[in-house]
Amino acid sequence: MEWQLPIRMASDRIRESSPHTKSGTANDCSSFTNNTGDFPCQEFNSSMRVLITEEQIRQRVIELGARLSHEYQGRPLTILGVLTGSVVLLADLIRATNVPLRVALISASSYGGTRTSPGELSVNSSLVPDLSGRHVVILDDIFDTGKTMVGLLDAVQQFGPASIKSAVLLWKTERTCVDLVPDFFGFQIPDEFVVGYGLDYNDEFRHLPYVGIPDPDDLHMANGG
Ligand code: 5GP
Ligand code: MG
Repeated sequence: MEWQLPIRMASDRIRESSPHTKSGTANDCSSFTNNTGDFPCQEFNSSMRVLITEEQIRQRVIELGARLSHEYQGRPLTILGVLTGSVVLLADLIRATNVPLRVALISASSYGGTRTSPGELSVNSSLVPDLSGRHVVILDDIFDTGKTMVGLLDAVQQFGPASIKSAVLLWKTERTCVDLVPDFFGFQIPDEFVVGYGLDYNDEFRHLPYVGIPDPDDLHMANGG
């Protein structure tokens, strides 16, 4: 594995460094309080295990940006973010990339699947602009079985771009079951369900600045419990 991924508790990280807490405990939300005093301050992540820290992500995104800048120098680049999981990475990566580029969005979702086994893939390309003559990098949060990326490559091919490559923050290498590997990736990770830095469970956790492994209590809370 290319990256060492020490697992830490989110509450340790918050105690060490969070600007969001005054006294340094995960549950002290006083510095988040708005004018009305009722800013929601529910914390889902007090016991979450941190797989990849904010700093590790930051460093790696800088490296990925440098690679893209090198590879696409002098070539018209469009970074095509996959909604919704890629939005945090997209925002950081385009600012770490130092060549002219355009940003576009595409949507992909699996229907009828479970948390660990995706269902049938549906790709919505209605937001995709003209890509003829452009070099496209499809940017997703995670490459798991790889079926989503295969479907996306197929869909984007219809737009007649000059080239297409794939980039993801995370690659679950043990689960990949297609004849494709991501062209660019941030971290190879084990077969664990992860959230944060854009990745969700039940649409929660996307805002976490790190990638973490939720425990059953976190999932229960995210289910409204
Ligand atoms: P694939 O088609 O490669 O199996 O799955 C890719 C999609 O499944 C991702 O875009 C993501 O939406 C979802 N996914 C796969 N593994 C995880 C995970 O560990 N956490 C989260 N939050 N989503 C995942
Ligand atoms: Mg996805």
